Amino acid sequence: MNVEQYLNSVYETVIQRNPHEAEFHQAVKEFLDSLAPVFEKYPHYKDTGVLERMVEPERLVSFRVPWVNDAGQVQVNRGFRVQFNSALGPYKGGLRFHPSVNASIIKFLGFEQIFKNSLTGLPIGGGKGGSDFDPKGKSDGEVMRFCQSFITELYRHIGQDTDVPAGDIGVGAREIGFLFGQYKRIRGGNEAGVLTGKGIGYGGSLARKEATGYGCIYFVNEMLQSRGLSYEGATVVVSGSGNVSIYAMEKAMELGAKVVACSDSGGYIHDPNGIDLDLVKQLKEVGRSRISEYVKTHPHATYTEGSQRIWEIPCDIALPCATQNEIDEASAATLVKNGVKAVGEGANMPSTLEAVEVFLKNDVLFGPAKAANAGGVAVSALEMSQNSMRLSWTFEEVDSRLHDIMKNIYQQSMKASEEFGAPGNLVVGANIAGFLNVADAMLAQGV
Ligand code: GLU
Repeated sequence: MNVEQYLNSVYETVIQRNPHEAEFHQAVKEFLDSLAPVFEKYPHYKDTGVLERMVEPERLVSFRVPWVNDAGQVQVNRGFRVQFNSALGPYKGGLRFHPSVNASIIKFLGFEQIFKNSLTGLPIGGGKGGSDFDPKGKSDGEVMRFCQSFITELYRHIGQDTDVPAGDIGVGAREIGFLFGQYKRIRGGNEAGVLTGKGIGYGGSLARKEATGYGCIYFVNEMLQSRGLSYEGATVVVSGSGNVSIYAMEKAMELGAKVVACSDSGGYIHDPNGIDLDLVKQLKEVGRSRISEYVKTHPHATYTEGSQRIWEIPCDIALPCATQNEIDEASAATLVKNGVKAVGEGANMPSTLEAVEVFLKNDVLFGPAKAANAGGVAVSALEMSQNSMRLSWTFEEVDSRLHDIMKNIYQQSMKASEEFGAPGNLVVGANIAGFLNVADAMLAQGV
């Protein structure tokens, strides 16, 4: 069996073992498509079964989450946690609360998390969890009761040395606070490192909130510099208006870019004068309102329903920071036609496989999610360190470590891309560097 046949056979097994899980299949395919040069150069990996082990989660738990809404009715949701790989450290990865959550989504996210976490160079394994619960439109009391029920089941599977959840879509400081409070009540002690993304007053890290967005901007900056480009005067489109998007916009603006558009699940706003970020923060972080409200006070801006067409706005730099598969082949082609120079994935798997092909073929600088959005989990790991030491670092200290980590991820990925015959292709570079980090640790620890 040659390498191509071998990698295909691993993929076929994944499909058979996980039927109807399109997102998980996509994430595995994207990864396997990069690995041929590694197996050509180091054939011994094939005999170890390390790849076959890597694509199978160590553990996947699914559980019932019953809770009572404000009308006194019992509601039932489904919770998940995938503990995908612990070769490098405790399982680490966020929780996503969104109606689309199912085993496929959690497995794709958990799989990506393994390699992303390894690229940070910090001792964390890969995991992910969540629920099909939708916090949108729920009262604080409902969200609290849901979180309490969720952790009442999950607490037995997590711990500061075993598995450390954090936020993702639909899980921010409010939810982490409720989850942490209930964990503490059940355990009868303060194990601060069991969750990250905590409030600053009770064990959270400064710069965690900003970390994914800032990190993405730092990573893209490395890509830009490699071609003598910069953010100064560049036009930027950022999808989403959650935590990742807001702080990507903030840092891009600080570095001289003009951010002209952002979105939410309802649609997008286009403000040719440059987005008023204070207003977006007010609407989204304080008010939990719709982004469409923006045009009420800024009538020169436009709101368009449906978020897909945001990619029709001409820009130098596109930052998909909303959700998976938000850039398809057609949107990628439109971005290229309009002259996009760089794409940095702030969200997880926001570009389809076909879209990535379009960017790479057209020589667009492309920062894949595993590398470009690793800043969030990196600072989560720094939060764990601070919790273990029972001290807290300044914002500047954390931010400067984050900056170094993102530069290092860029260099690692670049180096691997060069060593394995695809110079400058950061998809291949990040996947290979991630694979080698994890595979070698797994082999050292035996079957
Ligand atoms: N959900 C984020 C991610 O996709 C952060 C995870 C964490 O901080 O553990 O990487």
